[in-house]
Amino acid sequence: MNLLKSIVQYRCPRCRTGKLFNEPFDFYNPLDMPERCPTCNQHFEPEPGFYFGAMFVSYGLSAILLLVPALILVLGYDWSATRAMIVILAIGAISFFRILRLSRSVWIHINVKYQATPVSSQEEG
Ligand SMILES: [Zn+2]
Repeated sequence: MNLLKSIVQYRCPRCRTGKLFNEPFDFYNPLDMPERCPTCNQHFEPEPGFYFGAMFVSYGLSAILLLVPALILVLGYDWSATRAMIVILAIGAISFFRILRLSRSVWIHINVKYQATPVSSQEEG
């Protein structure tokens, strides 16, 4: 599995097999993650506050996802800012949890290196 696929499908950054989030999706705990990867035992929260940095990823992703359509609507289709804002808010509401999870996935993929052969040792990550 390549890096991009692993990020988008929320896989463990180390083995790219184990799932990063608990399933099924829990609306009240959208970021519920197992403590360790079920496949390679990679710790999913290597240090307290690890996902603080994911906020910046989330900010960037949101900016791209919301700003680009807004600019296209306002500049390309001559929409009013208010009208474009309604569409942007709808996109934001629909993609909210997806962006949250995606930014965590991007963040842990930045910080944990991929190891081609799954390791079964109990090495701390
Ligand atoms: Zn793993």
